[in-house]
Amino acid sequence: MAVRKNLDQIVENIENAKKRVGRTDPVELLAVTKFVDWDLIDQSIDWGIRSIGENKTQDMNKRIDRYKDLLEYHFIGNLQRNKVKEIIGKVKLIHSVGSQRLAKAISDRALYEDLTQDVLIQVNVSKEETKNGIYLEDLDSFVYNILEYPNIRVRGLMTMAPYQADEADLRKIFGSLYKAFEDIKVKNYKEVSMSYLSMGMTQDYEIAIEEGSNIVRIGSAIYGDRTY
Ligand SMILES: *Cc1c(COP(=O)(O)O)cnc(C)c1O
Repeated sequence: MAVRKNLDQIVENIENAKKRVGRTDPVELLAVTKFVDWDLIDQSIDWGIRSIGENKTQDMNKRIDRYKDLLEYHFIGNLQRNKVKEIIGKVKLIHSVGSQRLAKAISDRALYEDLTQDVLIQVNVSKEETKNGIYLEDLDSFVYNILEYPNIRVRGLMTMAPYQADEADLRKIFGSLYKAFEDIKVKNYKEVSMSYLSMGMTQDYEIAIEEGSNIVRIGSAIYGDRTY
């Protein structure tokens, strides 16, 4: 019961956040299922969840084995280059491309498997030392360099805000990524289609939506606190 009630509440919160800033475009709810028990995930799927996110390749594959074509899968965690082959082509989006070397590894493998992999560029807006991602000031040249790589397609940007950020910080971080997103969009690079702006988790998704996010990645607000 709790999962369904949580999801109803989140959808209401998303709609209210959109209304506050006059948005009518869709915001996708990505359910983050890391460390979540199967029966809770099943409940969320019964409710209507069709996209889930995981941050480990092995866990992602367990979910894919069980739910197959029923769901869309998003990889949201740090991806090691030697693990690219475990998920490439099976996930709709890799949200966490934060280095040229990883982009190259994805491109190489996608070429080898004769497929195209859609990715988001992870941006470390607040320059936290513990987080992956490229800095905002390097974003332009990063996107430009990826254009050279075949079989990898940039579809948007992703960021994670620092855990301790207050509301003013969050608005600055999310707002500046939204601006970068719009700036790249108007450049009309042939191989880049800026569709997804992945920002916002349990504690900050409403602010992220007010600042322009169109995918929120939510775990504990749906399934309860994680016990690692
Ligand atoms: C775990 C995780 C989330 C979801 O976090 P919650 O606070 O449980 O909503 C979102 N994005 C990434 C990258 C994560 O690793």
